[in-house]
Amino acid sequence: MIGELITVGTEILIGDILNSNAQYIAKQLSTIGFNVYFQTTVGDNPQRLRATLENSMKRSDVVILTGGLGPTQDDLTKEILAEILDVSLVFDQECYDALLERFQKIGAITITQNNYKQAYIPEGATFIPNPNGTAPGIIAEKNNKTVILLPGPPREMIPMFEETVIPYLMNKTDTRFFSNYYKIASIGESAVEDLLLDIIDKQSNPTIATYAKPGEVLLRLTANAKNREEANKLLQEYDQIIKERLGDNIYAFENSSLQEAVGKMLLKNHLTISISESCTGGQIASRLSEVPGISASLHSGIVVYSNEAKKNFLNVKQETLEQFGAVSEETTKEMLLGLYDRTRTDIVVSTTGIAGPDGGSEEKPVGTVYIGIYYKGKCFIDKHLFMGSRKDIQIKASNECFNKIRKIMLFSS
Ligand code: ATP
Ligand code: MG
Repeated sequence: MIGELITVGTEILIGDILNSNAQYIAKQLSTIGFNVYFQTTVGDNPQRLRATLENSMKRSDVVILTGGLGPTQDDLTKEILAEILDVSLVFDQECYDALLERFQKIGAITITQNNYKQAYIPEGATFIPNPNGTAPGIIAEKNNKTVILLPGPPREMIPMFEETVIPYLMNKTDTRFFSNYYKIASIGESAVEDLLLDIIDKQSNPTIATYAKPGEVLLRLTANAKNREEANKLLQEYDQIIKERLGDNIYAFENSSLQEAVGKMLLKNHLTISISESCTGGQIASRLSEVPGISASLHSGIVVYSNEAKKNFLNVKQETLEQFGAVSEETTKEMLLGLYDRTRTDIVVSTTGIAGPDGGSEEKPVGTVYIGIYYKGKCFIDKHLFMGSRKDIQIKASNECFNKIRKIMLFSS
């Protein structure tokens, strides 16, 4: 089945609003097993809208339009559709009753003339109730082609899509897409692709896709099948290969964040943690605090940006700072031990580095970051060199830090 979308609105064409409806609908259509070959945006212009819709109906089985469905003069999608189908707009009592109910709910006394117009739908079509607005949606069929009209505002369109359109469309296809997700840390997108090159090369069903974010990669393995059971059979072989080759670099089998994975592990293992951050500026503690229930594990996070703070709060020695510098293994170690002294948590974490763009030297270029973890009486400290902007370096450093915490929990429990 081929699905296609047309987003109607001059606002979209001139860049005033982001075409989020297109992204949402395309994703939904793909998930339920449609092939999407075209997306078009057209302004509020009757001739161009008619030409676009006629063209789409020739090449696709299902055409979905959003926008231009409201009660005002410039809203003409419904009228154009009736013209193309060669039917007239007829009053629909059921649609009118739904409208009336909606108006009564919001306390209106009468229905205005232009809203009354909304109870007219192309002859033979069915309407889609709109629980969050007045413009009803429309489903029309002709010669095995389906056209679906939906209102533009996402808060109206999305619930209608989920409640009515998806069940309606799912009856039309007998296969759907099922995906496995793998979240990967420590290695980059090209390294992931390299490891899986042979199966990426011969992919058809299932397909493999990678999405890179700074410091992490999302891998999606997708099969087209009748049900999850059949999909699992198709996914099995590649699933095993992926797990074998990527090993413990996979930190989750769902599209979740690194902090979520680490937070859950800390809670599950009943471990407490405290964090002292220099170059990551509190990001690690902040990200960890996103995890619900983390107060049972997260003892404290402290940002020790200046040398003064490192000395006052963590007992880092003046001599250490003078001799080795703030960005050094020695300082990291003293930060760890100083914080442990104060918090006595199971895990202690410290970061210190140069996020740039200034402040680098030949010996310690921008991107140099020391990450230290104190666990069971031992300090594990590594020096890293991260590339990119200041923001990239901070996010890569905090990701690496989460990854280290995760691995320490994995291997020393
Ligand atoms: P209304 O009854 O509000 O007039 P409508 O169906 O006529 O609804 P439009 O007039 O085309 O829709 O658009 C109304 C609003 O909906 C836009 O101002 C915009 O905020 C939002 N909108 C429309 N199309 C899209 C789109 N493709 N993506 C995201 N938002 C959209
Ligand atoms: Mg409108």
